[in-house]
Amino acid sequence: MSVHVQPTVRPDACPALVLNADYRPLSYYPLSVWCWQDTIKAVFLDRVNIVSHYDKTVRSPTFEMRLPSVVSLKTYVKPTRIPAFTRFNVFLRDRFTCQYCGAREDLTFDHVIPRSKGGQTTWENVVAACSPCNLRKSDRLPREADMIPRQEPYAPSLSDLHQNGRHFPPNYLHQSWMDYLYWDTELEP
Ligand SMILES: [Zn+2]
Repeated sequence: MSVHVQPTVRPDACPALVLNADYRPLSYYPLSVWCWQDTIKAVFLDRVNIVSHYDKTVRSPTFEMRLPSVVSLKTYVKPTRIPAFTRFNVFLRDRFTCQYCGAREDLTFDHVIPRSKGGQTTWENVVAACSPCNLRKSDRLPREADMIPRQEPYAPSLSDLHQNGRHFPPNYLHQSWMDYLYWDTELEP
């Protein structure tokens, strides 16, 4: 097996960016990526076209191929318009900023209404908070702690996240992905 691996990618990782049939990412948040095993399976099932490769090659007794870094679906899939509730997306909505003091480091998640008081783990009740603020607020309600989030937490639209994503592009992208992520003027920095 060739050992040449792109410097930004772990040897065992080599994920492929998955584009829809229109060459836009299948989803942005989370970014649609497949592990190389799933990607090769899809190639053999003839479900995707290979758009770009890594330098890394995989071999078996019966075949040899360079690992795809970008693939596109052969059949168009209607994209979902609702962003997934994930830790990354909460940070992105809150622009990687503590919603209590504005710090940008040591970020954690805070339940505005604590779980112990019935608060849910939802868009409307979880905000980015630095760990000092999180500790200070502890198990108290916002008004008890006199700590009110700067922005009332909400379920963002995809375009809200796109808007914020322009400032915080994912930092682990393979170079071959960039063309497919940023040609959209909506996403250009
Ligand atoms: Zn803080």
